[in-house]
Amino acid sequence: MLNENIFDLIIVGGGPAGASAAIYAARKRMKAILILKEWGGQSVVSSDIQNWIGTPHISGADLAKNLESHVKEYAGEFLKIKVGSMVTNSEIENSLDGNLIKISLESGENIFGKSLLITTGSNRKKIDIKGADEFEHKGLTYCATCDGPMFSDMDVVVIGGGNAGFESASQLLAYCKSVTLLSRSEPRAEKITIEKLKTDPKFKLIIGATPKEIFGDKFVNAISYLDKDGNEIKLDVSGVFVEIGQIPATDWVKNIVELDETGKIKIDPWTNRASKEELIWAAGDATNILYHQNNIASGEAVKAIEDIYKTLKTK
Ligand SMILES: Cc1cc2nc3c(=O)[nH]c(=O)nc-3n(C[C@H](O)[C@H](O)[C@H](O)COP(=O)(O)OP(=O)(O)OC[C@H]3O[C@@H](n4cnc5c(N)ncnc54)[C@H](O)[C@@H]3O)c2cc1C
Repeated sequence: MLNENIFDLIIVGGGPAGASAAIYAARKRMKAILILKEWGGQSVVSSDIQNWIGTPHISGADLAKNLESHVKEYAGEFLKIKVGSMVTNSEIENSLDGNLIKISLESGENIFGKSLLITTGSNRKKIDIKGADEFEHKGLTYCATCDGPMFSDMDVVVIGGGNAGFESASQLLAYCKSVTLLSRSEPRAEKITIEKLKTDPKFKLIIGATPKEIFGDKFVNAISYLDKDGNEIKLDVSGVFVEIGQIPATDWVKNIVELDETGKIKIDPWTNRASKEELIWAAGDATNILYHQNNIASGEAVKAIEDIYKTLKTK
């Protein structure tokens, strides 16, 4: 293989981690390629992000645009960008230049690199209860920002006691008649968010509620849950919004890195190196770090680039 077809670094993912990595790699004049399905990452659906440092309020869509335009400032001799491409597989190949990473795209194209930074984040977890598959897109949805306005003046339920659940509830309160949030255990969302929502008379929080079944005809018309004592309670609602966590988007690297039991990539927290291979790093929500935030994903990726640069320079 010709040397010019081999990148110093392949970065996969266009969320805050991937975008930060691409900017830092280009500024260090590494021959890099950024491959991503979509710009912006998970919080692209947020209507108001309030903790992206330096910007008191920004929508997820605007954050995505800003990340894209910042990265594109550096596109050129050193940085190539491939948008809309899903990476489906990865392998290590022996070559005359030593081990190389081979990345395969859904189009069938292969890309080779001396190093790889994985920043593919995670996707929403689907709920596995009776009626959930049947009523998906018929009243059961995984995106309050995308589908919320269709439930104006209706009673809805949000499932999930993390930040994403409370954030969805907060968005829905702007137009729904009532929002009931079902949380299996004590909510894990930030206290400030929980307290703010509790002051809204249209909001109700039920703790110790385990969702059981979705009911409906053509569309959702009710949900039932088991309360703390195991009693089945039925609520008449027109919409169910599910926010029960994330599944790491790491299927395409499972052959070349070590994953934990939840599918997250195990990394060394000092350097962001993935556990199995010396050529591979990972950053952001795809990794087994404890906290998942935009600023953290961005900083973790920068840390990884520093280590990749040092490693390749001293090789
Ligand atoms: C609804 C919601 C609201 C949130 N609000 C906030 C907030 O207000 N503040 C905050 O700090 N955090 C918030 N978060 C958390 C934050 O969004 C994440 O921590 C952050 O996006 C993680 O960034 P990342 O770059 O690691 O991964 P992601 O954001 O998940 O980005 C992954 C990227 O990889 C791409 N990708 C995935 N798989 C492939 C593949 N196989 N091939 C090619 N590309 C691929 C995707 O298209 C995407 O570009 C929120 C999360 C959610 C779900």
